[in-house]
Amino acid sequence: MAARRLAQAKRVVVKVGSALLVDARNGRLNRGWLESFTADVARLRKRGQEVILVSSGAIALGRRHLGLPAGKLKLEESQAAAAVGQIRLAHAYKDLLDAHGITVAQVLLTLGDTEQRQRYLNARGTLNTLLSLGSIPVINENDTVATAEIRYGDNDRLAARVAQMVGADCLVLLSDIDGLYTANPNEQADAVFVPRVERITPEIEVMAGGAGSAMGSGGMQTKIAAAKIAVGAGCHLCIAKGAHRRPLQRIEGGARCTWFLPSATPVAMRKQWIAGTLKPRGSIFIDDGAVRALLGGKSLLPAGMLRASGRFDRGDTVSIVGPDGLEMARGICAYSDGDAARIAGCRSTDIEKVLGFHGRDEIIHRDDLVLLRDP
Ligand code: GLU
Repeated sequence: MAARRLAQAKRVVVKVGSALLVDARNGRLNRGWLESFTADVARLRKRGQEVILVSSGAIALGRRHLGLPAGKLKLEESQAAAAVGQIRLAHAYKDLLDAHGITVAQVLLTLGDTEQRQRYLNARGTLNTLLSLGSIPVINENDTVATAEIRYGDNDRLAARVAQMVGADCLVLLSDIDGLYTANPNEQADAVFVPRVERITPEIEVMAGGAGSAMGSGGMQTKIAAAKIAVGAGCHLCIAKGAHRRPLQRIEGGARCTWFLPSATPVAMRKQWIAGTLKPRGSIFIDDGAVRALLGGKSLLPAGMLRASGRFDRGDTVSIVGPDGLEMARGICAYSDGDAARIAGCRSTDIEKVLGFHGRDEIIHRDDLVLLRDP
């Protein structure tokens, strides 16, 4: 079964973590591993599958060359390390995939490239063109210009956004752990392995805890966040241990890994994008009546809005928070934070009187809104 999910996928995204690519003892590239991995990738291409790689490792590689100290780096230091490491990483992929006659394309993304609708569509166009020309995009975050507020910080969620963007049918997160356990197996000896997740319930999120590795930024929590985005986009997601040679072949051969199955009813593309927003620009707090209306499939009207927080413009994605303080939906707001605050609690017919212009009747129209909770 599992073997087929990867072998039959048309478009595959594979995320490679820093811990696999960089030797923790000396900070050098694990060339032997990368050689075997690229041979694995070439095998998929030969079978006619399209492949996108999301590769970490720039910062981990660059810090050694710059002689930066062990431990947490300052922002400027990780930006510098990324500049030095990324070029080495890209060269290694190019050399090794060249040997298989495969053209590599480097794509560096910043958060805005997936969070702003127009830039998302542009990036999607470029990736589709690269794939149609037969090349393999190797993607990383553009860490050299990314600062705390505008960065993904982990490549798990970046990879999920990419998988969603290109409509991939399989996303593989190669990691230093072989999948999801009921608790962190390094801390609890009785943690049980979970081979398959059909729905990401709150219990599954609790299982993810906060496990992380020494080198990469993503723990199990970011992998679950990635899984949510992927399954909502109709994409299978697999968390597997990557340290062995030929990790993809091993998955096909039935090696232990966790599969997240895509949701039964894939959401429309635009709604997938809204639900997958990594950093909503602000929040809109609503009353019980509005919660019921939203769960019933209605739009959010000013009457049900209590207040706004954060700075956002018309067209930005915001969280919608119920009286219990939990985010229950997400949507594209038709008003800026200031205007939304001014019409909060008003009837739609009074909008013009309050604002001096006639905006939309709805603060967030139902076509621009996704529920994050079951009705
Ligand atoms: N983009 C970072 C790098 O290339 C890695 C992020 C991660 O560890 O997920 O070094």
